Parts: sequence; C-alpha cells; structure tokens
Amino acid sequence: MACVVCGAETKGAALLCGKCFGEIDDPLSLLPAALDPKSDQRLFQIGSVSLRIGPVSSADISFSKGLEPALRLREILASEDKGGLPQFVDHYLAGLGVGLYLRGDERLPRRGIIWSILRSAKDLDFKTEQWAAASVRMGNIHALLVREVSRLPIEASAVLPFVQKSSDLARTLYARSLPYSSLNLVASADEALLDHWTGNSEKALSTVEGLIGSEKSESIKAHLLIVKATVLAETGMKSQAVQVLESIPGKVRDERVARLKALIGVTR
Ligand SMILES: [Zn+2]
Repeated sequence: MACVVCGAETKGAALLCGKCFGEIDDPLSLLPAALDPKSDQRLFQIGSVSLRIGPVSSADISFSKGLEPALRLREILASEDKGGLPQFVDHYLAGLGVGLYLRGDERLPRRGIIWSILRSAKDLDFKTEQWAAASVRMGNIHALLVREVSRLPIEASAVLPFVQKSSDLARTLYARSLPYSSLNLVASADEALLDHWTGNSEKALSTVEGLIGSEKSESIKAHLLIVKATVLAETGMKSQAVQVLESIPGKVRDERVARLKALIGVTR
C-alpha cells in the first residue's frame, strides 16, 4: 500500500506512513470530534473577547484576565503557584464531556486548549483530590487516544511507540488517585478498559469482576457491567456479553446497552 499523504510505500495495509503520523501536531484530531454548543453560544450571544479581536500578531497586546478558558489557562500557568489549575482542569474537562468513568464513546470538541492542558499538566503535581480527579480525566483522554490510534491503518512501527507512551501517561495520571480510595476505584475501572485496548483483556475482565463484586451503587454497577460486556463482546464471547447486559436492571440501563446489543446482533 501507499501513504495517503505522501505516497511513500507502506508495510501491509497501512494507509499512513510512520513519518506522516509523526508529523501530526495535535494527536487529539485523531479522536471522534464533537460539536460543542457552548462555543456557538459564546460566539453569538456573549461574544468572546478572543473571537472578536481575532488572532493578533502584535506582542504589544496581551491578555491577562478573562473568563475565556484559554485566557484563564494562560493566566493560571503564568501565576507563581499555578494553584488554580486543579479546579480549572477538573471543571473544564467535565464540561467538555470527559467523565471520571471512561466509557469509550466520548467525543471531544476540536480545541487546541485541550492539548495545552495535557502538555502543561503532565509534570505538575498538587496533593489534592481535585487534582487527582482532573488527572483521571486527563488519563481518560490518553486512553481514548490509545484505542483510536490502535484502530487506525498506520504502520505498526509508528503506532507501537505512540501507544506505549500514551498508555504510560494514562497510567501515571490514574496513579494520582491512589491516596483517595473511592476515586481510585473509578481509576481502576478506567485502567481496565485501557488494559483491554492494549491487548490485556483477561486482566481487564478480572479487574472489572472484582469491582462489580464490591460495588454498592446500582448505576455504577451498571456501568461496570457494560464495560464487562464490551470486553466480552470484543473478545468474541458474545453470548456471555448478552447475559451480562440482560442482568442490568431496566431502571439503570443507558443507551449503551441497546447499542451494544445491536452491534452483537441481538434483536430483542
Ligand atoms: Zn506519508
């Protein structure tokens, strides 16, 4: 095959060569994107400062304060202690739809600020539960990238180092939840999906089964059962997956149950 970007010959069925993959500036552009209604709201109703002024090349104009997320992030990063970062990242990512529990069907809006957050937050550490929660959300973005990139037709020699690096980052971010037991349970469920996406589905199943056994909340249990069913279905154990889905009480079933059943091919 040949690379669809540069035309160089690629190995196997790869459609993108390692060199072109390496030149992607914003790996988040590889994720399924979502339209964000809030960005339109700002543009049409409130009128964001940065949108009205537009890109400015002059260094004389500087923005230091504002309610615009990108300006607020810049202000926090420029401050001495960067103490506003945990709250900002936690709320901002939650608002975008990056939950604490990883689902796998998240869609992110295309925003450069997300990548700035991930880059600048990697080496910063705060000993607070909110930072741990923000870190779990950031770990989820890296985990989603791992899954997405593993599925793309890219040369294996380029994919493997990327997957390794992103999984390591996700696991490091998840580990920040260790001092907070309930958050750590959430991160364990997320890491189980990452294990599954990186080929360790048996470990993923045993983690999720352990979590299901001790979970008291019906709705969290339903999420864990959906994760279990997803892993089972994707590893070819379709009838077991259907059994797991059937065991979820009607009142806590979300749209993923019907969607997964449709993918498996169950019409009931
Ligand atoms: Zn290429």
